[in-house]
Amino acid sequence: MLGQMQQAPLLLTDILRHALRNSADQEIVTRLVEGGMHRYTFADAGKRIAQLAHALTDMGIGMGDRVGVIGWNTHRQLELYYALAGIGAVCHTINPRLGPENAGYVMAHAGDKAVFYDATFAPLAAGLAPHLKSVEHYVEMCPEGQVTEVPIETQSYEALIAGKAEEYDWPTFDENTACAMCYTSGTTGKPKGVLYSHRSLVLQCIVSALPNSLGCEQGDVCLPVVPMFHVNAWGVPYTALLLGMKLVMPGPGLDGPSLHELIVKEEVTYALGVPTVWQGLLAHVEGNNLDFGKLKYSLIGGSALSEQLIRGYDKYGVKCRQGWGMTEMSPLGTINVEPEGFYDLPIEERVKRQIKQGPAVPFVDMRIVDKEGTKLAHDGEAEGHLQVRGPWIIDTYYGFEENALTKDGWFDTGDVAVIHPDGVMQITDRAKDVIKSGGEWISSIDIENAALNHPAVMQAAALGMHHPKWDERPLLVIQLKPGQEADFKEVQEFVNKQLPKISAVDDVQVVDEIPLGATGKVLKTKLREHFKDYTLP
Ligand code: ADP
Repeated sequence: MLGQMQQAPLLLTDILRHALRNSADQEIVTRLVEGGMHRYTFADAGKRIAQLAHALTDMGIGMGDRVGVIGWNTHRQLELYYALAGIGAVCHTINPRLGPENAGYVMAHAGDKAVFYDATFAPLAAGLAPHLKSVEHYVEMCPEGQVTEVPIETQSYEALIAGKAEEYDWPTFDENTACAMCYTSGTTGKPKGVLYSHRSLVLQCIVSALPNSLGCEQGDVCLPVVPMFHVNAWGVPYTALLLGMKLVMPGPGLDGPSLHELIVKEEVTYALGVPTVWQGLLAHVEGNNLDFGKLKYSLIGGSALSEQLIRGYDKYGVKCRQGWGMTEMSPLGTINVEPEGFYDLPIEERVKRQIKQGPAVPFVDMRIVDKEGTKLAHDGEAEGHLQVRGPWIIDTYYGFEENALTKDGWFDTGDVAVIHPDGVMQITDRAKDVIKSGGEWISSIDIENAALNHPAVMQAAALGMHHPKWDERPLLVIQLKPGQEADFKEVQEFVNKQLPKISAVDDVQVVDEIPLGATGKVLKTKLREHFKDYTLP
């Protein structure tokens, strides 16, 4: 027997409606690409979102059309998120750090009908334009009269929306309608498109807003340092409006000093980003005898959170909370929210839990399997391929015929993990980065975490290098903090003291700079290329 309740579709428009009704006076603050700060209220944003929706409709953009966005986190991109979704179109955020070839590939693959870009990326947009047959309109997200001179026909965002009606009669449609799109970063082949639906993002947004998931609340001031092109800034543009939180958009200022200024001036209490960003910020604060103002939490994800970061922030009273997810998961999979009484424990106890990725959020199901796909125990010992399923997890990549799932309906994340009896998941590695030594798997994350505890080490990457007897053994590559020197042998001893014997690194090498990929993660493919002729001692 079916229930007899109304069939109202779950639409992002309703998050906007809720925000306008309940938190109309809440603020959105942006560091502008063109310089200076911009601040307005949710109510003002609502009017401009309506104006933008009219402008988009006038441009001939409607249901199912993909619109590319190459920009920093700003109020204008936020307006695009809601206006495009509201008219049934798809906001395709593009990571400019993918490089012109990949950016061009994803825009052509998505068949973007229009492209909105920030001034910073005007040369990128103009360079790609001759290759993009589907694009009919280019818009620079800038004030009227300030369009960067480029050899494409373009217009300014502000001129585009000026004078349009400030109300829009938002349509209702199927909740499974696509609303946003993001491509994987393509570290293992061509980027693949993930097409989110209103339903998947609304559900994830509601779960994000639970006190035991992201754990932010009305009254928090939220700073998404994670870019809006990195899996919808982990859903914050939706969650902030649902919760009525003040939203602080960092624009292009992602360096330590700019972020620090924003955190202190805007009284940020909750910020989100990848570890490399937090590292830069911590170095700035430590180096200049500053503090973090009112910052209470930093939600860290995208790659493993190290003990060194947890301890570094702990000294300033800032709590590091780890989340794990991926583009294919919209991205939320786990959040390591602290159990009651957690902060009464000594730091030695706390870090042991904080370096784990955490328990799954509601509606996400996780399992680990062996090579043959047989389910392994969640006993904190067995290590296997991590697979997931749930309402905001990919079924099929955009443009693919076949779904991306196992025969029994799970998505293989490409990560290797253990799951503890209390449900806490711990990534040991990406399957392709695991170091395979004499039939055993060594976690490169464990080695990197141990290396980051060294006071002179800024960045670390462990690579499996060919070994005649053991198949592979770990090489530790480090980048030193500016002005620091280190004795390799001493670093090796320091690291190996913290590791089980099997994980002990065979050698340490220093590079000037460990390469980072498009989302601020260590690019091991490039490092492997660098060390391709290297042999272990
Ligand atoms: P890419 O890095 O390929 O662009 P994603 O941003 O979707 O793609 O990254 C997803 C991957 O990032 C995960 O499969 C996992 O390997 C890694 N990752 C994300 N969060 C964490 C975390 N908290 N700890 C360790 N690894 C993480």
